[in-house]
Amino acid sequence: MSISSKSSVLLIYTGGTIGMKEDPGNQALRPFDFNSLMEEVPELHKFALRIDSYTFDPLIDSSDIEPGMWQKLARIILENYDAYDGFVVLHGTDTMAYSASALSFMLENLGKPVIFTGSQLPVGRPRTDGKENLISAVEIASSREADGSPTVPEVCIYFNSLLLRGNRSTKVDATGFEAFRSPNLPPLAQAGIDIRYNRDLIRRPGDGPFSIRCGLDTRVSILKVHPGITRQVVEDILLGPMTRAVIIETYGCGNAPSRDWFLDIVKESSRRGKILLNVTQCLRGLVNMDLYATGRTLKNAGVVCGRDITTESALGKLFFLMGNSDDNETVKAQLEKDLRGEMSI
Ligand code: ASP
Repeated sequence: MSISSKSSVLLIYTGGTIGMKEDPGNQALRPFDFNSLMEEVPELHKFALRIDSYTFDPLIDSSDIEPGMWQKLARIILENYDAYDGFVVLHGTDTMAYSASALSFMLENLGKPVIFTGSQLPVGRPRTDGKENLISAVEIASSREADGSPTVPEVCIYFNSLLLRGNRSTKVDATGFEAFRSPNLPPLAQAGIDIRYNRDLIRRPGDGPFSIRCGLDTRVSILKVHPGITRQVVEDILLGPMTRAVIIETYGCGNAPSRDWFLDIVKESSRRGKILLNVTQCLRGLVNMDLYATGRTLKNAGVVCGRDITTESALGKLFFLMGNSDDNETVKAQLEKDLRGEMSI
């Protein structure tokens, strides 16, 4: 692992708390410009690196992220792919796991690091976590193996000493510094005195050239089952004419209510050709629709098993697969495959 003087990183600044400061009028946090942000992190100049930047206009709170911005991110990375060793995306934490997941599918044969990071406290605040997050993310994005190949050619989230696979990550803490976890996959690296990479887990790119696939079909709904869920709500979501796919967030190993009306609606939805994906509400473990009778009924109704995929990743995977195929059976077959390390097979 080394950082040579030739290394270069493109910092893509989309917004988020890391670059916000208080509006003197009402104390609400608002984004400030990239140069002011960089002035707060002079440590970056200590790296023998070329660090260039691309700033989104307008900068956004990531609650406003839209798939169009994922397409824009993918295009920026494509246009700058040959010119940089790695990319750091500064992004709000609220939807970082969604963006990192979506990008992991949209970037094909990725051979360079794309590291998302941000912070819980703005970089200008004395106790900020933003500086360490940004500095380490830059170091990881520029890190290379002895043979010159990038150490982590994946879309990742770096946060509070942990490097996590993007499409395995989820925001687990609204206020604490340890905001992200990948509950079903150990970290790809841990930063202490050194950055220790878990090389056995890091994926290597396929043979083909790097490319992007920006087609996204967003006709997806999420149905979270809960005690007391009403027939009307289930009908509206599973039979809604505008949805092509529904992520059913189930209990435990993939279980849902066994009442007739619920199962009839699932069957009808499936009969109408909708893509139904079973994702567990639990943070850890995986869906197994053979374990309980309720799970089996879902399986028999054509519901696809999401195994240990996160909801964030399931959403990105569906947008991506549906954007690239009009055939729902093809999409279902692809959903069952591990495409980018997003689920354990
Ligand atoms: N609302 C902010 C955002 O996601 C929160 C953060 O960055 O931590 O942009």
